[in-house]
Amino acid sequence: MRGPGEILLIACYELGHQPLAVAWPAAALERAGYAPATLDVSVEPFDPERARGARLVTISVPMHTALRLGVKVAARVRAANPTCHIAFYGLYATLNAEYLLAHGADSVTSGEIEAPLVELARRLERGETVERARAPHLARPDVPVPSRAALPKLTRYAKLERDGQLTLAGYVEASRGCKHLCRHCPIPPVYGGRFFVIPADVVQADIRQLVAAGAGHITFGDPDFLNGPRHALAVARALHAEFPRLTFGVTAKVEHLLARRADLPELGALGCLFIVSAVESLSDTVLGHLDKGHTAGDVREALAVVRAAGIALRPTWVAFTPWTTLDDYRAMLEFIDTEGLVSHVDPVQLSVRLLVPPGSLLLDTPALRPHLGPLMADAFHYHWRHPDPRMDQLHADVSALVAEAAEKKEDAAVTFRRIRGLAGLGDGAETVAARAAPRLTEPWFC
Ligand code: SF4
Repeated sequence: MRGPGEILLIACYELGHQPLAVAWPAAALERAGYAPATLDVSVEPFDPERARGARLVTISVPMHTALRLGVKVAARVRAANPTCHIAFYGLYATLNAEYLLAHGADSVTSGEIEAPLVELARRLERGETVERARAPHLARPDVPVPSRAALPKLTRYAKLERDGQLTLAGYVEASRGCKHLCRHCPIPPVYGGRFFVIPADVVQADIRQLVAAGAGHITFGDPDFLNGPRHALAVARALHAEFPRLTFGVTAKVEHLLARRADLPELGALGCLFIVSAVESLSDTVLGHLDKGHTAGDVREALAVVRAAGIALRPTWVAFTPWTTLDDYRAMLEFIDTEGLVSHVDPVQLSVRLLVPPGSLLLDTPALRPHLGPLMADAFHYHWRHPDPRMDQLHADVSALVAEAAEKKEDAAVTFRRIRGLAGLGDGAETVAARAAPRLTEPWFC
């Protein structure tokens, strides 16, 4: 188990970022005396040789897309290596544990996964029994600096696009989990309202190695950077003190943007270019069902305070839910348009449909019940239908349009106008944004 490549850590997709969910376990296993190999199938071809040489293969599935890919990868691993132990880990592993254990996984875990993965390697090494479905491990993480040397270079991943220039971007986390319980989010069923901070010196050392690898921009991938605001500010100050020209982006919820509005100008001055915020909807009915903790009025206020701090807001959306009316959808488009946010919203956002995975907190709400269909276990979510058939048709049409537009690399403003047309609106106020907002070259949502 301790020989080079006897453990193989596979990443499937981390929204176009160099896979931190593999770099961290790699570092923890190296610290424990193992010599894992890594493979990121989002940018590298599957390598049966690497699979054949492994006794333990782990597959990281932090999101739905990664899980869909991960199941296929597991089948290829099993074909190449019938006897290795295959472990799935990450948010979507626990949510879909039953399916995975019935379809090729030997064990499944999530939460703060470094310690459980080291323990798994030790148990397999000693020939001891392994727990198949382990509950999420929620203990303060003792994590080393992520091990990135064996990962593909940053040039293979999403970059910052700003004023027509592309800059290499690194992806770090200053915290994990989330203290909130939004009902549609995959994090609460695993973290149960808890979050853990990563020691600031570990974060800074990771940033340092990413800068040495060419990064000019850092993405803080924390589910919510402002869950621990004092920690977040300390991390941002340290970043700026050592690398004054480095820019960064964070994700923060509307509620936090309003509560920490006094800190936003400092974040901007420290190099924060944009804040991704899961606005989700401008319907207070929808926001109530999702238990988002903000109203449509709060969204407008948050936009104002972020702008006043010199930072771009990049709102993300759950554009289609069972409660979103056609008027709600049109109101979202009008808001984006009249607020000059067309270049702040990746077109794919306007096609996002509420995902209800197994374990979702939404399953406990009476509001969803009339719309809910069966679990589609091999698609890893429940089916639901909108009471107004026009909305399901609009979702299908917008999704097809966005996919076709992405394929031909259409300008986002043009795509936006076409979506307005599908929703029965005219051309709208904004034709071409005066200045495109900074963004990552891979769409991103909470
Ligand atoms: S949607 Fe954002 S704020 Fe809500 S639970 Fe998920 S990560 Fe936390």
